[in-house]
Amino acid sequence: MSNTAAPSGSFDVVIVGRGPVGSTLANLLGLCGLRTLVLEREAKAYHLPRAVHFDDECMRVFQTIGLADALLPHLTLSPGMRFVDAEGRLLLDWPRTREPTAMGWNLSYRFHQPDLEDVLNKGLERWPDVELRTRCDVFALEQDRSGARVRYEDLATGQLVEVPCSYVVGCDGARSLVRRFIGSAMEDLGFHERWLVLDVLLTCERPDLGDFSVQHCNPRRPATYIRGTGNRRRWEITVHPDEDAVEVTQPARVWELLSPWLKSDEAEIERAAVYTFHSAVAKQWRAGRFLLAGDSAHQTPPFLGQGMCAGIRDAANLAWKLAYVVAGKATPDLLDSYQSERAPHVREFIELAIRLGGLINTKAVEAALATGTAQGDGQLKLTVEKPLLGPGLAAGDRSMTGKLAPQFRIGDLGRSDDRVGYRFALLCSAGLGAALTEPHRAALDAAEVTILRGEDVAGLDAWLDEHGLQAVLVRPDRYVLGAVSKSEDLAALLSALTFAAPLPSAA
Ligand SMILES: Cc1cc2nc3c(=O)[nH]c(=O)nc-3n(C[C@H](O)[C@H](O)[C@H](O)COP(=O)(O)OP(=O)(O)OC[C@H]3O[C@@H](n4cnc5c(N)ncnc54)[C@H](O)[C@@H]3O)c2cc1C
Repeated sequence: MSNTAAPSGSFDVVIVGRGPVGSTLANLLGLCGLRTLVLEREAKAYHLPRAVHFDDECMRVFQTIGLADALLPHLTLSPGMRFVDAEGRLLLDWPRTREPTAMGWNLSYRFHQPDLEDVLNKGLERWPDVELRTRCDVFALEQDRSGARVRYEDLATGQLVEVPCSYVVGCDGARSLVRRFIGSAMEDLGFHERWLVLDVLLTCERPDLGDFSVQHCNPRRPATYIRGTGNRRRWEITVHPDEDAVEVTQPARVWELLSPWLKSDEAEIERAAVYTFHSAVAKQWRAGRFLLAGDSAHQTPPFLGQGMCAGIRDAANLAWKLAYVVAGKATPDLLDSYQSERAPHVREFIELAIRLGGLINTKAVEAALATGTAQGDGQLKLTVEKPLLGPGLAAGDRSMTGKLAPQFRIGDLGRSDDRVGYRFALLCSAGLGAALTEPHRAALDAAEVTILRGEDVAGLDAWLDEHGLQAVLVRPDRYVLGAVSKSEDLAALLSALTFAAPLPSAA
């Protein structure tokens, strides 16, 4: 971790940027044993207010990298979000269950982004093959058939350094340098608004503010309230086109804007910043040895709390593919499935966030309300299904391909992902588990696939029955590759694990 001497030797992967996405990716690559260098321009984590919510799927990724327990003390559960009009009448309700979901975790966690980044960054210290260098500003990239080179300035010494590597992943945020080297433009999805984001620390009890996030769909001044962790509370308030971005962050103006909810003797302003929320997806996420992940590849308005979540999913999708390619277990074509799978998924979330933005800013109320379903009492309720992966890897029966597999409990051993690790798993019925032949076992052993059998895993047989399946092959990122409904088809499904050739495509 020392910054004094230039790094020696060549790296499998250089990650540009140690935000939450770069740090998660580095933890995953460390878990895979890849020689990884993380280069970060800043000395410390970003200091302005950003993400406050992540979901059950992200928590599953944090579990995979062994950091879920370290994170739990920094999290609170969110009961959901309510959209109300200027008079406070409920327009749309988005409750979140308090019960763990099929992912084995809760649907909605609140957190403070610097706390998460601390845990992720400390987690990097566990991996002997991962090196983090802060105050290193990457300014140039090159690649050819034999490898890639990353050039950076060590800002502490002024030294210019070049490091050789096999792959470069740009986790370098919205203004990504790596994206420019890839030569990718952004596809603009049309939402661009300035919002003032305020984190305050309550100095007195204000239980009336509540635990639900509230979207104040007020045409005069749309605003969002979010209960943070501890005594932290967040307001995000629209900035009008004629308002000055500096003037609205001044304490007197901030208290004026907060006056509908809070008085100046009830809290301290922790941070105030004006952001322009964008909606955009990079057209090209990979050029040869260069790839993008996180905000460098996509940006969303924060109304669904899914921007960082999307980047964490990118990391989980990409890391095992990089590990397979670097180890020679798959051809580089495997990396093409990364954008084809992830881009449609993130786009669906961004489009929903834009629709909800239309309700909040009262510019497209009808379209947004059509997203909800009327309940018995006439109240509109929002339920958000996780999108499917886009076309990519697939094998056997494809009815579950591109969906997340559930996480099960294994007796006293706890959660099934802990048993599997960041690897493939075959979830099979008790009947099929008993009928596995020697060639099946050899294929599974060779591909380092963990077998979870119905007789050992609570609820697995019932889940397979419900879907009319005998076995499901799950990828390291917990998405289903394919399934079989008859034991005779198992050999064909397992042949998809021969990664020396390009993997089959769902397209
Ligand atoms: C107000 C607000 C609220 C949000 N709320 C949520 C939420 O509730 N839930 C959610 O999931 N998301 C939310 N987001 C989005 C979330 O914060 C971002 O998606 C996330 O921080 C992106 O992470 P990243 O690692 O991709 O990029 P970043 O966090 O931007 O990190 C990029 C890193 O790369 C470094 N870097 C850049 N260029 C170079 C270079 N040339 N050399 C070296 N280093 C470089 C930067 O210094 C930085 O550390 C919110 C965002 C905002 C603004």
